[in-house]
Amino acid sequence: MADKLPTYKHKERLRREGNSYDNMYGENIAGGICKLCDAGVEETLEHVMCECKHGKEERTKALREVGSLWEGEAGGGGWPMVDYINTTVTDL
Ligand SMILES: [Zn+2]
Repeated sequence: MADKLPTYKHKERLRREGNSYDNMYGENIAGGICKLCDAGVEETLEHVMCECKHGKEERTKALREVGSLWEGEAGGGGWPMVDYINTTVTDL
């Protein structure tokens, strides 16, 4: 995972005494620790998207719903099949 979104881990790395990150977050993001759960680990993109128990119910629901889209309809799973190679662009 690219881990480029503005997580507490990244904000904490940018925080220096007196800079804008320090003024905005201060010690509230010390260590870049996730504040949504009690795991005591850095808030990384992987933690937010895959591990944090705070979002577990939503992740499970989304995986179930997305997974069902791939079932049926001759392998297309209901997703629109687009022919990107033979598509032409026309002026309106
Ligand atoms: Zn967490």
